[in-house]
Amino acid sequence: MKAAVLEKPGKLAIRELPDPSCPTGGVVVKVLASNVCSTDLHMWQMGHPTLKYPRILGHEIAGVVAEVSNEEKRFKVGDKVQVYPGIGCGTCEYCRRGSENLCPSIQIMGFNLDGGFAQYLALPKSGVENGCLNIIPSSLSLSEAAMAEPLACCLNGLEKVELKKDETVLILGAGPIGCLFAMVAKHQSSGKVILFEKDSARISQARLGLEVDLLDANNVDVVEAVMELTGGLGADVVVTCFREAALEYPLLELAAPGGRVLMFSGISQDRGVVPTDLNAVHYRELALIGAYGCTSVQCQRALGLMAEGLEVNWLIS
Ligand SMILES: [Zn+2]
Ligand SMILES: [Zn+2]
Repeated sequence: MKAAVLEKPGKLAIRELPDPSCPTGGVVVKVLASNVCSTDLHMWQMGHPTLKYPRILGHEIAGVVAEVSNEEKRFKVGDKVQVYPGIGCGTCEYCRRGSENLCPSIQIMGFNLDGGFAQYLALPKSGVENGCLNIIPSSLSLSEAAMAEPLACCLNGLEKVELKKDETVLILGAGPIGCLFAMVAKHQSSGKVILFEKDSARISQARLGLEVDLLDANNVDVVEAVMELTGGLGADVVVTCFREAALEYPLLELAAPGGRVLMFSGISQDRGVVPTDLNAVHYRELALIGAYGCTSVQCQRALGLMAEGLEVNWLIS
């Protein structure tokens, strides 16, 4: 099979590799859609702490079951499946409470296991048993299904901040993730959804599919603009949706009293320590919350949302 292999940071090569054989108790998936995520670009250019080389990247995956071990009865050849890329241990406290993305020994396809930038992907028994495969609703295409993972990451983030039905959400960055967040926020809350972006191409792209307050951050005083749009209070939920957002925007100032700041995007390793006004957290009862990855159940919810009509095709380039 052909695969895109990251041999070291900066060196991504198309290689001819042996087709994977079917693991005992596992399945082989013929990959038909695998998105390029900004994390893949970052890995390609800069590496990543969890990467082991050589590595086939790709963690937003959909395909068709091509081979099934005799022992495996839940899936059959021809099933259209979305692949949840994490394999938790299945036994720790986090796995048992359905937060397998926090499992200390989780392995993730495209990070420390081979991923979806290949024609075939072998899933071990532990992956099948721990929920790596979700059946795709018949109304969805495989390209749409591959969007389930990033959409599920947004669902995870909004679950973490416990978004309420009428709250205002401020999203910093209108790339694909920012746009997905905006769609889910609109779906879950009747409050205002505000997006800031500095890149004009991203602003034009986001306008194609979103009906939200989308502002060019180059042209406005961000704090003033948010206060104007929120009656002087700030946003109930502030979400960072691009690397370094926490360095470029005054996150705590943008949050309303009782607000939550969701650190969805990371910061470069060497810039990850940022001075923070903890008195603002204290006096205004703010919460600083992290989100990383998603769970298999959240991927199922994401597939369900798309099947119910949440339209993501416009984000696929
Ligand atoms: Zn991703
Ligand atoms: Zn675990």
